[in-house]
Amino acid sequence: MVTMREFIGTEKAMDLENRYGAKNYAPLGVVISEAKGVYAWDPEGKQYFDFLSAYSAVNQGHCHPRIIQALKDQADKLTLTSRAFYNNKLGEYEEYITNYFSYQRVLPMNTGVEACETAVKLARRWGYDVKGIAANQAKIVFVEGNFWGRSIAAISASTDPTSYSGFGPFVPGFVKIPYNDITALKTLLEDEAASIAAFMLEPIQGEAGVVIPNEGYLKAVRELCTRHNVLMIADEVQTGLCRTGKMLACDYEEVKPDILVLGKALSGGVFPVSAALSSDEIMLTIKPGEHGSTFGGNPLACAVAMEALQVLKDEKLDENAFQRGKQLREGIKSIASPHIKTIRGKGLLNAIVIEESAMVDANKICYAFKKNGLLAKPTHGNIIRFAPPLVINEEQMDECIEIIRKTLTQF
Ligand SMILES: *Cc1c(COP(=O)(O)O)cnc(C)c1O
Repeated sequence: MVTMREFIGTEKAMDLENRYGAKNYAPLGVVISEAKGVYAWDPEGKQYFDFLSAYSAVNQGHCHPRIIQALKDQADKLTLTSRAFYNNKLGEYEEYITNYFSYQRVLPMNTGVEACETAVKLARRWGYDVKGIAANQAKIVFVEGNFWGRSIAAISASTDPTSYSGFGPFVPGFVKIPYNDITALKTLLEDEAASIAAFMLEPIQGEAGVVIPNEGYLKAVRELCTRHNVLMIADEVQTGLCRTGKMLACDYEEVKPDILVLGKALSGGVFPVSAALSSDEIMLTIKPGEHGSTFGGNPLACAVAMEALQVLKDEKLDENAFQRGKQLREGIKSIASPHIKTIRGKGLLNAIVIEESAMVDANKICYAFKKNGLLAKPTHGNIIRFAPPLVINEEQMDECIEIIRKTLTQF
């Protein structure tokens, strides 16, 4: 019997994934075996700045001691009851998170895609039961470039051929309009609002490459949705929880969506925890047995999420994200590099657009960043997202700007 596992180094770890795993990802050639705060280490001990934060799931920093402690304490007592029984953490968490975001009710799920799907189901049900849309006629409106996951419903809403091609047939009743185009929404709602249950959008599009709408867009969306009795669903799975320099990206325009979707950093990246938050009117349209998840609302998730949310407030990570984001964008703007077309972002959700040539592409640059101790990944070809954990301090950010400067001048 083998009592001790062999050391698995970088080469071995990559070989194993390549040999035994499905090939649904194309990771950068780095293996992470430990991480703390803004740092990650490979099995050989090389240190990196993590500039992806697991797609904004580790906003609070890797292995935040308070969140890990909450996980350990709860793991010793109770991990899962299913929702067949009450548990002593769920109600406490539900009260906590609804007060935190000023909503009346929460529906707990696990992954972001499940919480988004929950929002879509809630909207359809509300459309039939409250708004009075004819049976099976409800439409949900999405925007081009949206991303909310990989399920059949999510890819049915997608306009990215890589996401949806070869996976049809698709879910009907989904309408797509351009993002950041208030006229398109206005025209659609004026013509068809009677059969439209909801409009769902990200306040900043993350996967699409950190696409920021014009100032006033979210406010105008809110007004149009209210005027036409259409629910506004904000998918803040990536933008929420201090990532963009405010608790929610919708806070920049003081907009309150009818349904708020959260995930990713809701657990500080410890394990999947997501939620849809809304009102009595909307939530109570779904009755017992009509929706759920075995793991949704499990006591471990409740304990971890409460601590993860409290850390955001106690460490004022919204303010830090705002300041460090400014520092990052100004630092990058001061780099005279022909390879950077633009830098854009809010808080610590940022992207640089690479001027690609025969010699340089975003992937090559990411490998050079890696060599110099910074981990980032291209999204949509020539765009590199810069989204470090929100606990990064001023000196560390200066160090990262220096790595970026050094790397870009090497090309
Ligand atoms: C990541 C993401 C999701 C999906 O979350 P998963 O946990 O991967 O299912 C949904 N919406 C947005 C905006 C995201 O960035």
